[in-house]
Amino acid sequence: SANQMDKIVALCKRRGFVFQDSEIYGGVNGFWDYGPLGVELKRNVREAWWQDMVSRHDPLTAPADSPDAYQMVGVETSIIMHPQVWKCSGHYDLFHDMMVDCHACKGRFRADHLKVKLVRSTDGDPVVAWTFMPGSAEFDWPSSGDKKLSKAAAAAVENSGQDAEAAPVDMDFDTYRKTVLETSGGSEAAIPHCPNPACRGKLTEPREFNLMFKTILGALGTKDDEAFLRPETAQGIFVNFKNVCDSSRVKIPFGVAQIGKSFRNEITPRNFTFRSREFEQMEIEFFCHPDASQDWYRYWRDRRFRWYSDLGISQDRLQLRDHDPEELAHYSCGTADIEYRFPFLDEGEYGELEGIAHRGDFDLRSHMEGKLVDRDGKLEVELNEHGQPKYRGSGKDLSYFDDQSRERFVPNVIEPSAGADRATLAFICEAFAEDEAPDDKGKMQVRTLMKFHPRLAPIKAAIFPLIKKEGQPEKAKEIYRSLKEAGIAVTYDEQAAIGRRYRRQDEIGTPWCITVDGDTASDNAVTVRDRDSLEQVRVPVDEIVDEISRRMRG
Ligand code: ATP
Repeated sequence: SANQMDKIVALCKRRGFVFQDSEIYGGVNGFWDYGPLGVELKRNVREAWWQDMVSRHDPLTAPADSPDAYQMVGVETSIIMHPQVWKCSGHYDLFHDMMVDCHACKGRFRADHLKVKLVRSTDGDPVVAWTFMPGSAEFDWPSSGDKKLSKAAAAAVENSGQDAEAAPVDMDFDTYRKTVLETSGGSEAAIPHCPNPACRGKLTEPREFNLMFKTILGALGTKDDEAFLRPETAQGIFVNFKNVCDSSRVKIPFGVAQIGKSFRNEITPRNFTFRSREFEQMEIEFFCHPDASQDWYRYWRDRRFRWYSDLGISQDRLQLRDHDPEELAHYSCGTADIEYRFPFLDEGEYGELEGIAHRGDFDLRSHMEGKLVDRDGKLEVELNEHGQPKYRGSGKDLSYFDDQSRERFVPNVIEPSAGADRATLAFICEAFAEDEAPDDKGKMQVRTLMKFHPRLAPIKAAIFPLIKKEGQPEKAKEIYRSLKEAGIAVTYDEQAAIGRRYRRQDEIGTPWCITVDGDTASDNAVTVRDRDSLEQVRVPVDEIVDEISRRMRG
C-alpha cells in the first residue's frame, strides 16, 4: 500500500539507503543518490548479477547436452557514442513518449499511459474521471507540492459524490478524450481539462517528446556537434560485436554483458527510484543462430525469472508476462517482462523489472545497412526523399562465419535487459517487514526489519560485546577483525542496550548478530542470533568465520 511505501522511503532516508539528489537545494526530480548502506546494497545486486551471469558461468563443466555450454564475456562501453548510432538504432526518430501539457499551470503528463476510471455520479449519469490515486496519475505538477496535490485530487474525487466502482483502465489520451465525449453526448464542456485540481486549465494536443538527453561535443556547439547520453547500454555491445568476436575467440552462441548508466529525460519520473532520469542497466546481448533463437529466448526468460526468485523475491509478487502480439516491436519475435508487485502500485498491478526480447537480426543489420523499417513484414533500409538511405549504417560486415558448418549469417539476438535500480528497489520492498519481538524488558514491541537475502545484505554480521568491560570489547574486536580479514562485511557496535543494538541491525537487514558475553571467557563461544527467526545458538569462537561463511552460502 501507499502507506507501506511511505515507511520504506522514510527508512531508506533514515538509515542511509537512498537520498533525494541535491536535497539541500530542494532536489531534482528524477535523480537519486545512494547512501552508505544503499551503495553496498546496490553493489551487491550488481555483483550478484555479474557473478551469476558472467564470472561464475562455467561452460566447461556444463554437461554437453545442457544448454549452459555457451561463453559469456563482458564489456564496458562509453555513455556518449557516435550520433549515427542513435540514428541507425531508431532512437533518434522513435524513442519518444507522447506528452500533453497544460497551458495554465505548465503541468504535463504522459499521454500514452493514462489511467482512467469510469465513475458514476450520484444522479446516475456516467462520468469519466481521472483516477488521482497517488502513484497512478502520471501527472507532473511544476510545484514541489506534487504529492500533496495528488492527495487533494484523490479527496476531490472521493467527495464529489461519485462512486468509484469501476477499476481503472489503461488508455491513451485520444481514447480517453473520445470516451469522455461519447459518454457526455459530445458536449464541448466535457473535453478533458487539466487534472490539477487547483488549475483545471486547457490542455494541449498530445505531442512527441524525445527521451534522449542532448549534449554538445567540443567548443563550437553547432548542430553537427550534437551528441546524446545513451538511453540504453545495449548499443555499446552491438557496435563492438566485431571487436569482441575478433579479440576473444568466442564462438556462437555467446553472450556479452554490460552494466552501466543510462539516461532518459522521463516526462514524469516517479515512484521513488522506479522511474528515474539517470539509472543503471544490466544488459546481456546473446548472439545465436537464427534456427536456435526461439529455444534461447525461452532459456533466457526462465533463467532470468529464476534469478530474482533465487535472491528472495517471493513467487506471489513476481510474474513473467509474455507480450501480446500487438505489443511487440515490429522486429521482435517475442518479448516477455519480468514484473514485480511494487507497494506503490494499485491492487493487481505489476511494474517491469526486466524485459527479455527476441530481437532477431535487427540491431546488427541496422549498424551494417542503416536505419531499418518494416515494409510488408520485411525489414528494409529507410530511404529519404532522394531515394538514399535516410541514415547510413557503418558499412562494416557484422555477419558471423561458422567455421564448422561453413555457414555465414547475421546472428540473432536475445536481450535480457534489467535495471539495477529497479531490482534494488524490488529487493528493498520485498525485504521490508514488521513483526513483534520482545524488548530488553521482555515487552512485545513492533520490530521493523529488512529481510535481505544474505548475498545482498549490506552488512552480513554485527559483533557486540554484551557489556563494555571484562575484556568483552577486546574479544569482540578480535572476532570482528577475523571476519573482516575473511572478506566478510561486518560492523562492530558497543553503544546502547543489547536490544537496541539488535533493532538497529534488524532495520538495516543484517542477517546475524554475534554477541560476546560473560560466558565467552570460560567457554570460548559466542551467541549468534538470526534476524528472521530470532533463534540464538552458541558457536565456538574458532568456528565463527566458517559458520558465517557457511550461512552466507545458504
Ligand atoms: P518502462 O516501460 O517502465 O518505461 P521500458 O520498457 O522503457 O520501461 P526498457 O527500455 O526495456 O524499459 O529498459 C530495460 C530496463 O531498464 C527496464 O526493465 C528497467 O528495469 C530499466 N529502466 C528503464 N527505464 C528506467 C527508468 N526511467 N528508471 C529506472 N529504470 C529504468
